[in-house]
Amino acid sequence: MELRVLGCSGGEADGHRLTGLLVNGQVAIDAGSLTQALTVEEQIGVRRIFISHSHLDHICTLPFFTKNIFGHTDVPVEIQALPETLDALRRHLFNDELWPDFSVIPSPDNPIIRFSEVVPGRTYHQDGLRVTPIPVNHLVPCVGYLVEDDHSAFIFSSDTAETDELYALANRIPNLKLFITEASFPNEQGWLAEASKHLTPEKLGRELQKLKVDVPVGIYHLTPGDRPVMLPQIQAIGDSRIHMLDQDARFTW
Ligand SMILES: [Zn+2]
Ligand SMILES: [Zn+2]
Repeated sequence: MELRVLGCSGGEADGHRLTGLLVNGQVAIDAGSLTQALTVEEQIGVRRIFISHSHLDHICTLPFFTKNIFGHTDVPVEIQALPETLDALRRHLFNDELWPDFSVIPSPDNPIIRFSEVVPGRTYHQDGLRVTPIPVNHLVPCVGYLVEDDHSAFIFSSDTAETDELYALANRIPNLKLFITEASFPNEQGWLAEASKHLTPEKLGRELQKLKVDVPVGIYHLTPGDRPVMLPQIQAIGDSRIHMLDQDARFTW
């Protein structure tokens, strides 16, 4: 399995792309940076996109992606997400006001994208991968994803405050190579993390006590301007499994 980090920032600025992962060049998880990180040829190679939740930083390149692949693909790209997330995409984005509804263009029978619901806990066997959405604890319905092949696995929590099921799952996956989770606000803004259902480094430290396996933990979703304050706070957790997830990192397992 090859995992490519297209973007892992909780805010956008030069050198800091929004959230997106690409597995084996074909399966994306979240769409915050598809069109900034990938060439047009690479975008045409993306066959399905699992979306964690409807927040803009996880979906914002979908419109430009659909335009780029228009005319270059015979098979619709599957956009797979919770029903609530798909509903938000239909109502607020692909609504013929903000952007054309590419789920019926050029024709309803053969569109550019096709919306497909995922059921939490169900495993999807696609493109040589097994992808399982797991509910997490965010302001809107949100799932993390377990992605596996026959040799390796990784978990992406997406945006979440305190959560249990994902850690319980991580503790029983034998070939887990990487656990990606978030830290979104400095410790001083614990109230904001609570209100928006995110983690601070302090809260992250408590969460990671639930992770009983010795596996690298990649931290994502810092806001660029908060990095100088948050990096020492993350280091102060004192957990040797932690490292910062880097944009453009590639993992091959
Ligand atoms: Zn979010
Ligand atoms: Zn986010």
